[in-house]
Amino acid sequence: MKAVVLHKKMDLRWEDVPDATIKDPHEVIVKMLAGGICGSDQHYYTQGGNGTAIVVREPLVIGHEGCGIVEEVGPEVTKVKKGDMVVLRPARPCFECYYCKHHMFTYCEHVQHLGSAALFPHTAGLFSDYVTVHEVQCGVVKHLKPEVGAFAEPLGIAYSGVNALGNIIGKDVVVMGAGPIGCLCAAAAKTVGANTVTVIDVRQEPLETSLKMGADIICNSKDNPEQIEKWSEHKGSFDCGIEATGNGFAAATLMKLVRPTGIISQVGMYGAGHEPKDFGPFAVKGLKWHSVFRFYDEFGAVVGALDNGLINPLPLLSASFSGDKCVEGMQAALSPETMKVEYTFNGYKPE
Ligand SMILES: [Zn+2]
Ligand SMILES: [Zn+2]
Repeated sequence: MKAVVLHKKMDLRWEDVPDATIKDPHEVIVKMLAGGICGSDQHYYTQGGNGTAIVVREPLVIGHEGCGIVEEVGPEVTKVKKGDMVVLRPARPCFECYYCKHHMFTYCEHVQHLGSAALFPHTAGLFSDYVTVHEVQCGVVKHLKPEVGAFAEPLGIAYSGVNALGNIIGKDVVVMGAGPIGCLCAAAAKTVGANTVTVIDVRQEPLETSLKMGADIICNSKDNPEQIEKWSEHKGSFDCGIEATGNGFAAATLMKLVRPTGIISQVGMYGAGHEPKDFGPFAVKGLKWHSVFRFYDEFGAVVGALDNGLINPLPLLSASFSGDKCVEGMQAALSPETMKVEYTFNGYKPE
């Protein structure tokens, strides 16, 4: 079988890898159909790692967003069967550490995350003809297209961000950032009952896309800084906010926009030097800041939202490339013109 393998920085190849096998009785082999290229996959490609701590030390099959069909199941698998279409969650907890025993799976000390160089040997990812996963990583779907199913992981992050806000029924929510995650946060917030969702960004095209994903109000803060000032008056205009940029400047703005005692959910990851510097409003408004790291329990909501068509992520899909065109696909993903780019496998072609 073949896979998209990162050898080192800027060296990505579609090449032969050993066949997927079942080693644990709870494992499943999935025939992949579609997989989404995430920001972290782009970091692996451009930097040979993810952040400063995670460096690729051996060839790594990248990818952690994907959808496929169950090809084979281990003897003790009960949750899926051969022929099921499944969306995949990248995290496989150990189920034994302190955090797993306390149902804090996202903080598992020994978690294996698909397509990650955090452990050695590295954990192979989903950009492959076939993959081996634990049955708990599979969500069975019946109605959706594979290119939709590949959005399960980023939508999981979005639901995790919304979940951190608590009950938002009837609340006015502001989202900083109209990238794929910001747009999915907007969509997720609408499905759980937000009164209004406002999305703020400095780029017009993604803002227009966020409207298709369910945003009620958009604001280009570069073209219209007056609006940001207006929303900051009277100690803020929103009940709660989601930070989906990983940019400290946006976070500082968000602290001004959210009313006293509101919750800010931190979904974006700060690169070194991009952390927020101005905590002035935070100190005097009784704000609660809830960081979000990956997702676990939200997976069921994600599977339902995608499979029932409650959320249609396709306005975010800019292009698809077959796995053998992995470099072209990665370059397209890196272009500022695109939102989400996907790979396809086993000859699957989106309509
Ligand atoms: Zn991702
Ligand atoms: Zn654990």
